[in-house]
Amino acid sequence: MNMISAYSLTHQNWKDLFSSCGVSQHVLPFWLKGLYKDSRIWERHISKELVTDLNAQLDFTLPEISSAQISQDGTAKFLIRFRDQLEVETVLIPFHKRFTICLSTQVGCGMNCSFCYTGTQGLKRNLSAGEIVGQYIVATKWFKEKNPEALNPNIVFMGQGEPLHNLNEVKKAIEVLNDTQILDIGQRQMTLSTVGYLPGLKKLADFPKINFALSLHSPFEEERKKLIPITEKYPLRDVMEAFDEHQARRKQIITFEYLLIKNLNMTDAHVQGLSELLGHRQAILNLIPFNPFPGSEWERPDESAIENFKAKCVEKKLRVMVRTTKGSDILAACGQLKVNKLARNNGVH
Ligand code: SAH
Repeated sequence: MNMISAYSLTHQNWKDLFSSCGVSQHVLPFWLKGLYKDSRIWERHISKELVTDLNAQLDFTLPEISSAQISQDGTAKFLIRFRDQLEVETVLIPFHKRFTICLSTQVGCGMNCSFCYTGTQGLKRNLSAGEIVGQYIVATKWFKEKNPEALNPNIVFMGQGEPLHNLNEVKKAIEVLNDTQILDIGQRQMTLSTVGYLPGLKKLADFPKINFALSLHSPFEEERKKLIPITEKYPLRDVMEAFDEHQARRKQIITFEYLLIKNLNMTDAHVQGLSELLGHRQAILNLIPFNPFPGSEWERPDESAIENFKAKCVEKKLRVMVRTTKGSDILAACGQLKVNKLARNNGVH
C-alpha cells in the first residue's frame, strides 16, 4: 500500500483536494481541527461519503510510540515505529512551560561521523514528510496529556539522520508544521542542523526561513575529515561559502556546533582557528561536550576544561554558549540516538 499520508498535506493541498471532491471549502477548518486536535467536530459538517472518499485516497495512520523512557532531568526519549516496523528515536526536552522536540529525518544515517552513535547503524531509509510530522504529533500529544498548559514547542531537526540528505521530505514537513491553518509552528521556532551536506545547502534559496546550524567540530580541514568523513567530498571552504550566500540572502545568524572532545580539538590553535573562521561572520558558537556511548573511542572533557575553552573563545570575542546535556542517563543526548534492539530485548526500554 503506497498511499499519500494525510499528514504530509499543506492547507493548499487540502483545499485542492476538497475542490476536486466537489466539497465546499468552508468545512475545511472543521476537518483540519478534527484531524490535528483529535476532536470529532467535523462529523456535524462533513458527509460520510466524503470521509469514505478521503479514506480511500489518503493514509491516516500515525506512527506508534513503541516505548517511552523518562530521564532524571525530565527529558523523554520515544522509540517511534512506522508501518514497515522500522523505528527512530524522537526526543522531547521540557523547559519551563515550553518544550523542544528533536525530530529524526532518516532511519539511521549515511554520514558515518566517527563520534556519533546513530552513524554506526548506517542509513536504512529516508522518512517521508508524513512520518516526520507524525513524530511531532504523537510526541506532542503524549506531552500535552500530562501538561495541558504547555505552549507550542520549538522543533530541532537534530535527531537521527542528515536532514539535507532528505531535503524534499524535510522541506514538505516544515511547510506542514509551519502552516498557520495546521500546526502553526513559527519558522523561527525551528532549527535544522546539518553536517554540511553541500548538495542540500545549494538548494536553500527557496527553503522556509527556519534557523540553520552547522556541525563544525574542527576549524581544520584534515581533522574535520577524520570526524566528518563527507568533508572529503564537500570541503569546509565550499560549505562556508554556501552559508555565506545563504546569510547574504536571509540576514540570519548561523549557529556553529562544536563538539568538545578531550585531548582532540580543544587546544589554543583550535581557538585561534575558530576565531579566524568565525570572527568576521554573524555566528554563534555552540559548544557541545562530547556525550559518550557504548564503544565510543573519545572521551568527554571535564567541566574546568570546558569552561577554560569557552573563556578563551570569549577572549577572541566569539559569541559562544555551552549546550547543556540533557537525557544522557537514557542515551537521549546529542549523538547518542540509536535504536538499540539488544537493550530493548533486555527490558531496558
Ligand atoms: N546530521 C545532522 C543532524 C544531527 S544533529 C548534523 O550532524 O548536524 C546532532 C548534533 O549532535 C550534531 O551537531 C552532532 O554533531 C552532535 N553529536 C553527534 N554525536 C555526538 C556525541 N556523541 N556527543 C555530542 N554531540 C554529538
